[in-house]
Amino acid sequence: MILLKGKEVSLKIKEKLANRIEKLKSKNIIPSLAVIIVGDNPASKLYVASKVKTFKKMNCYSKTFELPFKISSHELIELILKLNDDDNYHGILVQLPLPKHLNEENILEIIDSKKDVDGFHPKNQGFLMQGRPTFIPCTPLGCIKIIEHYNIKTEGKNVVVVGRSNIVGKPIASLLSQNSNFGNATVTLCHSKTKNLEKFTSEADIIIAAVGVPELINKNMIKKGAHIIDVGINRVDDNTNPKGYKVVGDVNFENVKDKVESITPVPGGVGIMTVTMLLYNTIQAAENLSK
Ligand code: NDP
Repeated sequence: MILLKGKEVSLKIKEKLANRIEKLKSKNIIPSLAVIIVGDNPASKLYVASKVKTFKKMNCYSKTFELPFKISSHELIELILKLNDDDNYHGILVQLPLPKHLNEENILEIIDSKKDVDGFHPKNQGFLMQGRPTFIPCTPLGCIKIIEHYNIKTEGKNVVVVGRSNIVGKPIASLLSQNSNFGNATVTLCHSKTKNLEKFTSEADIIIAAVGVPELINKNMIKKGAHIIDVGINRVDDNTNPKGYKVVGDVNFENVKDKVESITPVPGGVGIMTVTMLLYNTIQAAENLSK
């Protein structure tokens, strides 16, 4: 079994990004990201902290705008509009989820699509659907980079994506079905209304699990020699762990590991790639905007 290590892929990509950062620096441009976080969601704060850390390590700039939970939609939109016009920022990211009184779809649409480094703007998602150059959402892009790095062939393969969110499931399904180097797969998109999930997963050469249900996929649901990209990040109670919990994926790793050809671990797989791809997209944005 080959362990598909996100860290290994991430390091390789960061090496290449360092050269691009240097080139930008020689033109007095430092890739810069504005991160907006609303409220005190601890998980969101952790994600933002890790993004900030990565930017700092790579000599890029990020500024976090911490806004109170009760902020109005109007005030949030005003800040985004200001950042859209601010040449000091190449990328703008609104950390999700937003509190219920803020309409996520409307807010994300306000971000200038040229600074939409999360790739959530409907214009960029439309480009992605059409196979045109765009910002690809960070997690799906991270999955593709893992697939490329480990030379997992996708052409003509049966891929089953479990989960149809706009930020993971749908874009990865679209990318893998494009006529491109990392595409040309026959993709089946499953979700909570799919009847008999195992019927589909057990025929898949590659499974992308982006569900949010801890260890949903087990060895009885997969074909021998399948490749598995486990996007899931789930906290489950664990009394043996001093923290009182452990993090598991959407795939039961221990249960499937002897049956698969390759698999991403959780943690240590896709998660680390997501942050690296945010840096990747921000550098892309800085290059595009400096032209
Ligand atoms: P969402 O909750 O937005 O979507 C989950 C999808 O899974 C939905 O389409 C849902 O179907 C489907 N689903 C739920 N239960 C089942 C089931 N029993 N069988 C089949 N399909 C099911 O989640 P996200 O896409 O945002 O995230 C998915 C997972 O990936 C989570 O664990 C999340 O933490 C993780 N994640 C990890 C990231 C990383 O950096 N590694 C980044 C983003 C997410 P329906 O549409 O019918 O409701």
